[in-house]
Amino acid sequence: MPNPPRSRRDLQHLRIQRQALAFLALVIVAILTVGGWQSWTGYRQYLEMGEVNSENLARAAAQHAEDAIKELEAFSFGMIERLESYGLDNVDKPRMQRLFKNQARVMSQIHGIFIYDQEGNWLIADKDTIPPNANSVDREYFIYHKSHHNDHKLHIGPVIKSRSTGDLVIPVSRRINNPDGSFAGVFLVTLYVDYFIKFYESFRLDEQGIFVIALRDGTVLARRPFVEKMIGTSLAKGEIYTKHLPYALSGTAHITSVVDQVQRVNSYRQLERYPVVVQAGLSRQAVLAPWYQDLYRSAVVVAVVILALLFFGSVLLRQIRFGIAAEKELRQAHAALETLALQDSLTGLANRRHLDAVLLLEISRARRTHTPLGLVMIDIDHFKRYNDLYGHPAGDACIKTVSDAVKASVRRAGDLAVRYGGEEIMVLLPGSDEVGTYQVAENIAEAIRELRIVHAGSEHGYVTISIGTYTYSPSEKGLTPNILIKAADEALYAAKEQGRNRIHPSLCLL
Ligand code: GH3
Ligand code: MG
Ligand code: MG
Repeated sequence: MPNPPRSRRDLQHLRIQRQALAFLALVIVAILTVGGWQSWTGYRQYLEMGEVNSENLARAAAQHAEDAIKELEAFSFGMIERLESYGLDNVDKPRMQRLFKNQARVMSQIHGIFIYDQEGNWLIADKDTIPPNANSVDREYFIYHKSHHNDHKLHIGPVIKSRSTGDLVIPVSRRINNPDGSFAGVFLVTLYVDYFIKFYESFRLDEQGIFVIALRDGTVLARRPFVEKMIGTSLAKGEIYTKHLPYALSGTAHITSVVDQVQRVNSYRQLERYPVVVQAGLSRQAVLAPWYQDLYRSAVVVAVVILALLFFGSVLLRQIRFGIAAEKELRQAHAALETLALQDSLTGLANRRHLDAVLLLEISRARRTHTPLGLVMIDIDHFKRYNDLYGHPAGDACIKTVSDAVKASVRRAGDLAVRYGGEEIMVLLPGSDEVGTYQVAENIAEAIRELRIVHAGSEHGYVTISIGTYTYSPSEKGLTPNILIKAADEALYAAKEQGRNRIHPSLCLL
């Protein structure tokens, strides 16, 4: 069976290897894509969870602040109604002080309750002792109320240090009018800054989580973690106050803090009734910590799977290559076997089987192309004697030496030297006419003579050969391989008959 062209087979092998590689690459890309997609959705989910959490914290802080202030407002309505209708001078001060004390006791956010007259002097307070020179004329809230005739609303001011106790407090105040509408004084309730900080500290936050409560203008009232020097500073230039609050009263934003450079998921909310804003922020790092853990874990798993795939893929490829190499070797072995089957093992010349296959083809080709076909039949003289004298192995060596010399004498492409029998060699010379064939026969005889293989049984003292030749002419009809060989054989026989060591052309030509 003829082999398909090598390049086609090689291409096929290359394609198989490429397909295996492509499949491997596809599986790896698929694993990476699925892993990447899962990580991405996980990332979004954790961030969303962080947003929801910070939003809930901001909502709780806003509710807390709103409730604390609303309680004061409710209390202040009754008080101011009474103060304005009686007039500040007619108020029963000891009774009022008792009321303030009770009120402060009930509402833990309250640090103090005070009434100042129009000069800023301390008129009534829940405190028992009035500090000397207690005057609020310089305080922000006093100045505010004195100058805002028509503002009867609650006013929340920036944090101050209490002159009576030294505590940090948030002043929440209202204006008191005389019956004619002129300024009579100020009603002031101070809230503990600590009240808010304690509430914020009751939440479990990550280490970098924050709570901030500030006035609408950005002035910080309280903060967790508590840093005293930050109380009273302004957040007005921060992202929330510049980019978000002007457009929405509540929201969530991812912000890198200008204070500590920490990235946070920040939720803010402005109180419904008061110009106060609360913020709750969770650090992105803490929000994403479990996601990072998941990521490391799945990255390890994916890496292991990919390494295993690469390992088994390389094993598979090696197997494919091994299979290809084995197939190639098998093909080569098959070709070698085919050659062996057509070759004589001792001499390396073609064998009879080869001759049988070729001869018929050469005859028909000669006929088709109108070219002659030369045949040279060689037989070693007195070879039986040679064997007897020198032994069979030496005889074999002699046959080999003679064969080599014959092979060397016929070097034209298409010429074929065949070991025809024991010590008989036939040479097929396509395209050679009688003269050419005879010439080749002479060359061979000369080459053997030159070998000078000692042969004591020969009258010449060395090995000689007899040759019979036959040249087929395309004009001959009905010629078969047998007839051709027989003709050459007869010529050889004639050479022997005539005394050996000679060439005899075909009897047909005589
Ligand atoms: P001649 O051809 O001159 O008439 O005499 P011869 O002795 O050569 O006779 P023939 O050609 O008929 O005999 C061939 C002998 O060659 C017979 C055998 O002993 C020997 N022979 C045949 N084949 C081999 C072989 O493969 N090896 C060896 N060593 N001897 C062989
Ligand atoms: Mg013989
Ligand atoms: Mg012989």
